[in-house]
Amino acid sequence: MKPYWRLTLRYRTALIITLFIWITGLLVGWICRSSFQALLLRQSDIDLTEDFDDFQQIIQQEELPFSSVKTEAWNRRVAIHPLHRLFIRIVDSEGKVIWESITAPSIPPTSANVDPQVVQVFGEYRIMQQSVELQRSPTDDGSEERPMVPGILQVGCSDYLVDMTIAQFDGWLISAVGPLFLGAPILAILLASWLLTPLTQLTETTQSIAIASEQLIDRSGNRDEIDALAETLNSLLVKVRSQLRENEDWIANSAHQLRAPLAAIISNVEVVAGRIPDGKSSDMLQRVLSECEYLKKLVNQLLLLSEAKADRHQLVRQEVAWNELIAKSSDFYEALASARDLHIRFRHNDRCVVSANPEHLRFVIHNLIDNAIKYTPTGGTIDVSLLRDDINKQSKLIIRDTGIGISEEDLPKIGRRFFRSNSGRDPSQTPRGTGLGLHIVQSIVEAAGGKMEIASMLGQGTEVRISLPTAATGSAIEASRSADDIHASEPLESSR
Ligand code: ATP
Ligand code: MG
Repeated sequence: MKPYWRLTLRYRTALIITLFIWITGLLVGWICRSSFQALLLRQSDIDLTEDFDDFQQIIQQEELPFSSVKTEAWNRRVAIHPLHRLFIRIVDSEGKVIWESITAPSIPPTSANVDPQVVQVFGEYRIMQQSVELQRSPTDDGSEERPMVPGILQVGCSDYLVDMTIAQFDGWLISAVGPLFLGAPILAILLASWLLTPLTQLTETTQSIAIASEQLIDRSGNRDEIDALAETLNSLLVKVRSQLRENEDWIANSAHQLRAPLAAIISNVEVVAGRIPDGKSSDMLQRVLSECEYLKKLVNQLLLLSEAKADRHQLVRQEVAWNELIAKSSDFYEALASARDLHIRFRHNDRCVVSANPEHLRFVIHNLIDNAIKYTPTGGTIDVSLLRDDINKQSKLIIRDTGIGISEEDLPKIGRRFFRSNSGRDPSQTPRGTGLGLHIVQSIVEAAGGKMEIASMLGQGTEVRISLPTAATGSAIEASRSADDIHASEPLESSR
């Protein structure tokens, strides 16, 4: 049983393409986001470095305590600074704040080292810091001494601006890439279908090729994998056809070899049977004769089958007026039907000319009417109609009976070699047959470019429809051999 999760090649390809689009999308998105973030941080660090150098110079020119005019100016400067939340803090050697801007965070970042070249990261803050020597203003006692106060200058900013810009970037990325993610499966199915188009075309072409024909698959000439596959299929077709031909020849030769001894046996048994008085031995001889007749029928049918299938016999075609063929034999079938107490009606007013082997056509008519007679109980009706469909350029032979019918289960098997239906039949009452008749009919009809359809209901009856393309009326297309030369011209058997 096919597991439910097993996907077709189209959907497997689509799945791989979808995953590829998704993974590539995620990867590209992640790379873009990371690069953009790194760029923003780098720019922020450059700005921070410039501000640090600036403030370092300013502060070293000032004296402690700083004047309120100065500190207000500094506060204004950091408040309007494009680097969001820039702050300045000056601490003494014991970590006590000497001065800090109003923008400074309430929890100060811990100082780790004072290397001015490095931007240090403390949680959400990025800061630069360095030791500075601050001058104290002259003392009131008039001494000239200006003590230096050691301290640390910190200039920093929070990551808030970078984070906000990245969040905006994320929003833009999602709105741009999101539809691509959602549409990826549809895109993938379309792409997979397009990729598999040559394979689909090859499948359709291969399906349309009849084994019986000489047709081969057209190669694209692209010298790609599909071309190689077509070539492989073509060589397989050639091998299968030659094998089939060998088998058909073998059957035909064997059947041919059997005909002569069989004819000799029959004529000898007939002679002996004529000389023996009625009794047990005579009955036995009649049974032998009956079996021989059955064998003869089988041999003839095998020959006809191989003929119908072999290409060389397709040359034995000519324009045949199908309606005339039926008209000629209708008397014979009427007599046969009335002997069985059956009503048979013929409707063949349309002139239907088809291109076929006339002997083969005779077999088609014979086997179908013979079947209808065999499988219709006494009192039943058989309708034989031949219609011409000028629109579709088809001739349709329809044989409908009110017989025992065929079961739904057996119907698809009808037409297979040697298949005989047993459903709904009393084996002791079932007329004897080979089970080859409909198979031969089908082969003949298909060889002539037509088709056979059967509809049936058990206990209700059967309808067999044979469609054949109508030929342009006129002279014979091709009649390389006379119909008399054909094996099939053996007198056709009536039903047993
Ligand atoms: P043969 O044609 O060699 O005498 P056959 O008639 O049994 O033998 P087919 O003509 O191939 O062989 O028919 C195959 C089977 O299809 C028959 O055995 C019969 O079961 C069924 N069948 C065919 N035609 C009819 C019909 N008109 N009504 C009911 N069953 C039918
Ligand atoms: Mg038959």
